[in-house]
Amino acid sequence: MSMMDRHDTGHSPENQRALPGKMPIQPDSDSLMISFLLTLNILAPFLEYPPDALIVIDSAGTIILVNTQMETLFGYDHDELIGRPVDLLLPEHLRTAHVAHWTHYMQAPRARPMGIGLDLVGQRKDGSRFFVEISLRPIRIEHTLHVIGAIRDMTAQREAERERMLISRRLRQQDKLLSMSHDAILVRDSADHIVSWNEGAEHLYGWTEEEAVGNITHTLLQARFPISREAVDYTLEQHGQWEGELTHTCQDGRQVIVESRQALVRDEQGFPAAILEINRDVTERRRLERLEREARAEIDARLHVLQVILDHLPSSVFLVQGPQLRILLANQAATEIWGAPWSRGQPEEEFIQQHGASLYTPTGQPLPLEDMTGRRAMDSGKPVLNCQLVIRQSDGASIPVIVDAIPLEHRSLLPSLPQEMTLGPASAERVVLVVYRNVRALKEAEELKDQFISLATHELRTPVTIIAGYADRLLSRAAQEKGHALDEWQREKVQQMKHASWHLANLTGELLDVTRMQAGQFQLERRPTDLVALTRQEIERLQATTDKHQLAFHTTVAQLWALVDAFRIEQILSNLLSNAIKYSPGGGLIEVTLEEHKDTHEAHFRIRDQGMGIPHAQQAHLFGRFVRGENVRIAGIRGTGLGLYLCRELIERHGGHISFESEEGVGSTFFFSLPCTEAVYRNSSGKAL
Ligand code: ADP
Repeated sequence: MSMMDRHDTGHSPENQRALPGKMPIQPDSDSLMISFLLTLNILAPFLEYPPDALIVIDSAGTIILVNTQMETLFGYDHDELIGRPVDLLLPEHLRTAHVAHWTHYMQAPRARPMGIGLDLVGQRKDGSRFFVEISLRPIRIEHTLHVIGAIRDMTAQREAERERMLISRRLRQQDKLLSMSHDAILVRDSADHIVSWNEGAEHLYGWTEEEAVGNITHTLLQARFPISREAVDYTLEQHGQWEGELTHTCQDGRQVIVESRQALVRDEQGFPAAILEINRDVTERRRLERLEREARAEIDARLHVLQVILDHLPSSVFLVQGPQLRILLANQAATEIWGAPWSRGQPEEEFIQQHGASLYTPTGQPLPLEDMTGRRAMDSGKPVLNCQLVIRQSDGASIPVIVDAIPLEHRSLLPSLPQEMTLGPASAERVVLVVYRNVRALKEAEELKDQFISLATHELRTPVTIIAGYADRLLSRAAQEKGHALDEWQREKVQQMKHASWHLANLTGELLDVTRMQAGQFQLERRPTDLVALTRQEIERLQATTDKHQLAFHTTVAQLWALVDAFRIEQILSNLLSNAIKYSPGGGLIEVTLEEHKDTHEAHFRIRDQGMGIPHAQQAHLFGRFVRGENVRIAGIRGTGLGLYLCRELIERHGGHISFESEEGVGSTFFFSLPCTEAVYRNSSGKAL
């Protein structure tokens, strides 16, 4: 039989293998060799049957037979393998070790897998490597020991194994995460028996995993559903998930509210296998929400009562909150006074602007928003009272108002809440009560009164001055003994008449000034005036009226020029000096000081007495109209309470400022300043500027 002879096995041609060409059969070879080759030739077709790659190696490690699967697996042709050492199929770095393993195996050959516990690697012709599994079995061919090796490509299995490991690692991690979760996570089977129960569930419900597993979930937890159980099951079946709130009873009898998310898990055939339940404890949250709802309802109820009360008040009332002055509440009168309905939460300033309304000072200046009464009280935390303003509505109508803004202790407006609960940061914001009193009727009455006083005083002034003048003349002529001499009682009565009529003349003069000022008909007639000379002259005039008092004048300047209404400055000085005299009934020193403040271009006056002083209670209002000290009333000293009001008006109209310090029983000091323009300074000659 030639070496190329084929042994016909009766199988398909591709299964028929030729004997190795590198094993020539010589006609003169001994019969042993021939029968060996014949055996191989017979064996070869059988190697094609198994799916594994098969290889036959002799005891020296030389490949003598391979099947097609072997060639395909390693990428060699048949002839490239036969007669080659088996290490050819190993990566180079393993070849040395392989020789040792092979020798060791051949010492006691038996059927066994090769390299148990080792990662066996094969190397293809193209150098690529892959995991293999090899089983060895010794085989005797013609009395010679050979080994037949079955080699299986393990790449796919290894890949699958790796994937399995990854999945199991992931599952282990998920398991860990599930037990770490604060949520109660449990799995129940299709018969509702608990099969898994995490730490969160142990913590929430009180049962350990061992105690819980195997129980019927809804029975163990006495679950109460928001809808019927059937409806929940139906939703799970239809949509694969259900979410809702459940009430569960814990091991210790406590009831908890949980936000439950449930998902249906199906098996590979699509049948319901288990239900995963993730339950979050929301008991505390629900309790706080309920408290908040109750608190808000109480606040609303309180606000409603307040609204009803406020709606019956004639003044416009706003309750505003926070730096934006958001309107919490306003009453019916507020709608009327602003000519527009208000809306809750709207900032007060925005509301005013939106409805075209605006605020003005009594002198007609627009009021900047930052000067609004409510804003000032909000910013300072202190009440701002009696601000006189004018509201101008969008249709042009003006309403004079007096505004009070009172910060309220906001806590007192809120219901008492549990400590852990707040109604949000807004509840800590300051609340201010802003009251606008419509004083139009009052103003009208005042105007009417002023008109009446003006008319009456005007009509009175001329006859009173005539009477006072005649009384004066009668006395002086009698004193000069021209005409009839007066009897003692006649002289005394005429003297009284003269005093009374001058007093009346002064009063009517003051009243006229006041009413003119109120009506905006008052004008100053300014001209350059030397304040030093004018003051000295006024002091001398008043010194002549009293022996009990000593009037002293201190000044460091010889002249001090100012552009003022001299008659009015005389009036101011006369008022302050006669007050100092009048309210020092025991007499004493009255000091007048006049200084020049060059830095501010001002003249500073100071009038100090040692008289009765002014009671504290009246000090804040002393420059108002008709305000008088309680002590001077008790002492029966006559006066109108108009002098200081006129002084302040006159000084401020000159651009100056008046103030005082006083202590009852010790004395009073009045200070006032007047601006001296630079031009007046330069022209100290007193010539017209
Ligand atoms: P009248 O003196 O006519 O009452 P004024 O407006 O001048 O009115 O003064 C108002 C009040 O101020 C006085 O009634 C008095 O109580 C108090 N007053 C003014 N000046 C003095 C002073 N020098 N000493 C004490 N009280 C004074």
